Amino acid sequence: MEYKMYELPYAFSALEPNIDKETMEIHYSKHYRGYTEKLNNSVIDLPEENIETLLSMISKESQVVRNNGGGYYNHSLFFSILTPNGKSPSEKMKGVIESDFGKSFSDFKKMILDLGNSHFGSGWVWVYKNKEGKLQMSTTSNQDNPLMDISIPEGGNPILGIDLWEHSYYLKYKNNRSEYLENVIEILDWNKIEILYERV
Ligand code: MN
Repeated sequence: MEYKMYELPYAFSALEPNIDKETMEIHYSKHYRGYTEKLNNSVIDLPEENIETLLSMISKESQVVRNNGGGYYNHSLFFSILTPNGKSPSEKMKGVIESDFGKSFSDFKKMILDLGNSHFGSGWVWVYKNKEGKLQMSTTSNQDNPLMDISIPEGGNPILGIDLWEHSYYLKYKNNRSEYLENVIEILDWNKIEILYERV
């Protein structure tokens, strides 16, 4: 079996000015490809299973599979929920956010920014559906994510993940993670996020 890279439906330059072409190209063609290839090389003897299943049992796997399986899944999700100019959430999705977080959509966005900014070092900021079907927010370190049966005791199914590694913003934003986050949050595709919300 082989895990396949998500094929971008937009050009590397299509997310400018929020994300510059060079960053997108290196991020996709070097970092994401690297995680995918290393994952495929390290799980070659395992039975066929989808990535979500593999991550849900990651505590039984090696650190190499944890890092690259996470890297593969996280980037597949991240690149799939970005779109040129962004797409706004539906009234229904805004209602879900208001009921689960007790916040307006603009305060919810600020919560993501604050959480992402305060995370120390490399990692991800997540919105995920917990076991009770309610949305929650958290960050993870390195390439961990809420699907994994480690690091977050009360995990769930991600519907939104934003890369906090410096490789995702350093060329354009240097060390200014908060400026990157303010720009990337405006190019999220809330149609796709809602589809994920309905599915998981
Ligand atoms: Mn990355």
